[in-house]
Amino acid sequence: MELRGALIGCGFFAANHLHAWQDIPGARIVALCDRDPARLADYGDKFGIQSRYTDAADLFVREKLDFVDIATTAGTHRLLVEMAAQHRVPTICQKPFAPSMEDAEAMVRACEAAGIPLMVHENFRWQTPIQAVADVIRSGRIGKPFFARVSFRSAYDVFSGQPYLAEGERFIIEDLGIHILDVARFLLGDASRITARTQRVNPAIRGEDVATMLLDHASGATSVVDCSYATRLATEPFPETLVEVDGSDGSIRLGQGYQMVVTSPQGVETTDVAPALLPWATRPWHNIQESVLAIQNHWIECLRQRQEPTTSGHDNLKTFALVEAAYRSAGTGQTIDLTNG
Ligand code: NAD
Repeated sequence: MELRGALIGCGFFAANHLHAWQDIPGARIVALCDRDPARLADYGDKFGIQSRYTDAADLFVREKLDFVDIATTAGTHRLLVEMAAQHRVPTICQKPFAPSMEDAEAMVRACEAAGIPLMVHENFRWQTPIQAVADVIRSGRIGKPFFARVSFRSAYDVFSGQPYLAEGERFIIEDLGIHILDVARFLLGDASRITARTQRVNPAIRGEDVATMLLDHASGATSVVDCSYATRLATEPFPETLVEVDGSDGSIRLGQGYQMVVTSPQGVETTDVAPALLPWATRPWHNIQESVLAIQNHWIECLRQRQEPTTSGHDNLKTFALVEAAYRSAGTGQTIDLTNG
């Protein structure tokens, strides 16, 4: 049976969702919603979707849906997720999950009470190179990991495609660091403490564009998560996340250009872990675009098999808590303990 979905929010990033949905057999976007009629018409025409709504409340009343994909910015997520819960429609919500922990928790509660699955579109851990690093860790080849560095440093102009990123009081941890913190959790497990420092280098934006974070993981491992949109490099790495993992028996280095070097008792192995360039993808975004397809495939599989998505709303509360704690640490200069509350 084909699963019928609706997409709310026809903005900059939603084109990737819509392309990816077209690649997933057994699922189809049957309706679109955006409060901006011009954007609605543009995407409706481009993707051949005739059912169009400027009001999400109308969409939920009139359409029979198996899921909804919310691709608006964070300020509207709670309203839309609660609306979906009220209509018992399984929900995907883009990151950042919410503007506050209170909203994020309320959304998880609303979906649990309605008995519907909720997945946050936290796609970075679904990137091919990140999955490759995780596979090596899980294989045991490098022994027990005791250190990781997860790093995203770039000077790419993200502001022209997403002008709102220059306007918020918070920027890099909330928008990008959230992904990189999630990758650190994915690779080394949950964190118990975080220490963060932030800087603003670009005077034309409001929020911080550099963040350096130190995490204590419950496993005993330590990680450094560092993000910058103020780093000019010989070859622009956007949007690559670089990873170093040291283990008791070896190490992993995921370097620029998607090369992964694994050093283990078996020797040194270099593997090309570059993402596929999907037919609708464009460089340098193809790494992210491929992960959109991967996470949406995961959602459909989970929906069919009634399994909890790995990036469920519930799981994402832990990533979200790291973001909130990072800002608190940067603001106070203190290390924040995540284990008591
Ligand atoms: P955008 O501003 O370009 O698009 C948002 C769209 O939602 C707009 O067209 C707006 O009119 C519409 N909208 C807002 N409120 C609405 C409502 N109540 N009902 C109907 N439509 C509504 O934003 P964007 O850059 O596409 O970002 C959207 C989300 O995607 C953000 O949360 C952003 O952080 C996230 N994002 C994720 C990734 C990723 O890799 N996961 C990458 C880029 C952006």
